Amino acid sequence: MMKHKFDPATRIQDMLLFDEFGGVNPAITDSSTFTFLDPDTMTETFQGHTEGCFLYSRHWNPSNKFLADALASMEGTESAWVTASGMSAITCSILQLCKAGDHLITSVTTYGGTFAFLRNYLPKFNIEVSFVDITDLAGVEKEIRPNTRLIYTESITNPLLQVSDIPALADLAKRNGLLLLVDNTFSPLMISPALLGADIVVYSMTKFINGKNDCVAGAICGSADFVNALSNVNDGTAMLLGPVLDPLRSSAILKNLHTLHVRMKQHSSNAMYVALELESLGLKVRYPGLSDHPQHELMQSIMNDGYGYGGMVTLDLIEAAKSNEFMRLMQMEGVGYLAVSLGYFKTLFSNPGKSTSSEVPEEVQRRIGLSEGLVRFSIGLDNDISRSFTKMKECLIRLNLI
Ligand code: PLP
Repeated sequence: MMKHKFDPATRIQDMLLFDEFGGVNPAITDSSTFTFLDPDTMTETFQGHTEGCFLYSRHWNPSNKFLADALASMEGTESAWVTASGMSAITCSILQLCKAGDHLITSVTTYGGTFAFLRNYLPKFNIEVSFVDITDLAGVEKEIRPNTRLIYTESITNPLLQVSDIPALADLAKRNGLLLLVDNTFSPLMISPALLGADIVVYSMTKFINGKNDCVAGAICGSADFVNALSNVNDGTAMLLGPVLDPLRSSAILKNLHTLHVRMKQHSSNAMYVALELESLGLKVRYPGLSDHPQHELMQSIMNDGYGYGGMVTLDLIEAAKSNEFMRLMQMEGVGYLAVSLGYFKTLFSNPGKSTSSEVPEEVQRRIGLSEGLVRFSIGLDNDISRSFTKMKECLIRLNLI
């Protein structure tokens, strides 16, 4: 028999969804509640016994189920759950897994909101957190304590673009009875964390997965037991905190998911072009596709074929004032938008230390190598990236940066 490699985009393509009326896009469920023909079925559904019955949209609804099933297929997990934001996917997963007195280990480099939740919010629940350099496996192991419950990381960290060694972290977690929770927001399709050993994979779908920057959404992919636990009416964190995704949005995201592979390839090839050009100008650029990236070989060993190294590139201009002038000029010249977020069809750029990682205290930023002059790019889908790069280069020349 011919053996095929796991290909997340083909898994999405192979899903055939049939709704009641045969629409090629499943009908949107415009209801918060669902009727029952028999009160006994309602009782059984609340007790979690009736498969395929929908009771209330904060619990499940058909539109969210279609999207969740597609994401589980893409990720190779048994199940998935969709949420109203990436942050709620992260916070619900962690609060579902950890109780007062537990301890978790996280990469110190994460999205700033995640950092703030772990550092400023979890102490309210007496959950301890160790912040580590996730590329230092011995350092991660040293932090394991009897009450450690999980290891948290991002496949490609925001904003420093370190690549996490997911197989090694999964092995470490398994040997010590811990769980590995991975945020794969920067690398959908490119990396399949669950196949590399992660127990739970979370996404901000606001970014590449939706790709339009017209909504905020998140996802949690994991075992059926975990998703059932999250949605349990008595003690499920997602059910009780209630960050439900609106079905109108989930149906739009499902359609966008079907073009994700085309978009990721274009983001990646454009980003590779920009990274190589910036590097050839002698600038301090970081991109997992460059051979001098510290985890370039690791990235090659864990990535799926055909999607490239992603759309995120950083350029370190050392001084905040220089990065500000550069970003102001690039926006005026039409390179893209000075805006946070990522995965959009146009190029976006921002200074993480002053925006999406401003929650990270300055002394920690300096310690982890987050320079005050760092510019983070989410490279767009430009049809002619050389033209866009020429504009970028002209900005650098005008500001005497090259
Ligand atoms: N994870 C990463 C890596 C992010 O960059 C972000 C957002 O900025 C989030 C999670 C949070 O997602 P959301 O803004 O959808 O809540």
